[in-house]
Amino acid sequence: MKFCPKCEVRLKKSNTSSTLSCPKCDYSESDSKENKKDKKNDRSELNILDENEGKETLPSIKIDCEKCGNNEAVWWMLQTRSADEPTTQFYRCTKCNHTWRNYA
Ligand SMILES: [Zn+2]
Ligand SMILES: [Zn+2]
Repeated sequence: MKFCPKCEVRLKKSNTSSTLSCPKCDYSESDSKENKKDKKNDRSELNILDENEGKETLPSIKIDCEKCGNNEAVWWMLQTRSADEPTTQFYRCTKCNHTWRNYA
């Protein structure tokens, strides 16, 4: 919500363009609210992805979990620190979510 800097009246949005204008004076500005809204939506979508990160999107592999004895895990690769170091492979048990790395 935006207000006119001159008369502190709430700006009204034009129906025809993305312009906010003051009903009392001739002040107007472009409406940046929609851009902010888009960014907020993008962020919440990312949060949803973060929370669900793992099982649904990652490839699975047959491997024994040392914690629960389950024999299936998802895996992903992660580059650690510098590009000179080898990429580390991580596993996460699909049953108990135990995560470990493969140093091989
Ligand atoms: Zn005004
Ligand atoms: Zn496990």
